[in-house]
Amino acid sequence: MNCNRENSSVVILLQSLAKIWVPAMKALELKQNLGTCSLAESQGAAERAGCAVCYADLPAKVSGVAAMIDDRRYIVLNRNKPLQNLKYTLPHELAHHVLHLNAARSDDERGFPAKGMEELEAHLFAAAWVLATTNHKEREEVLQHNPEAGFILMSWVMVSLGGIGIALVGYICQKLFGARPSNSEIGK
Ligand SMILES: [Zn+2]
Repeated sequence: MNCNRENSSVVILLQSLAKIWVPAMKALELKQNLGTCSLAESQGAAERAGCAVCYADLPAKVSGVAAMIDDRRYIVLNRNKPLQNLKYTLPHELAHHVLHLNAARSDDERGFPAKGMEELEAHLFAAAWVLATTNHKEREEVLQHNPEAGFILMSWVMVSLGGIGIALVGYICQKLFGARPSNSEIGK
């Protein structure tokens, strides 16, 4: 196999791995830009990011909704859900505004091209947002009430480690078997 092609395959694999973490990096970047430390400050941060946050009686299965109405951004939270759930739902819905309801966002910035993957992106964004809070007790409580946050983070770490392992094996194989002698050198 061509060396350049093998090298580029390893690079493409590593670039793809980096891309799946884009939602988490976006969350950390936005959290820092908005000067948000604790999850109690998330509502104010979302409002500073241009989202009106309101509470309503939503169906029991629905924790929250992100919507655009007349060019205004809304995050509607189910007032009947426990506070620890809403502290996770709020950054999840904020993720939909930042990642999916943002017309200015180019396709290159998308961690996933498929529409059906948007929920995973929002979970990853919310998990990173919660994980980055400086209040240890608050962080632990929210993670306990929202096991999907830990699940998505663990899944992403496993996928990344698997991808890095494959890239490493590919690189080693290329080094060991890639530089074959030409026909004119064989038999000398
Ligand atoms: Zn969602």
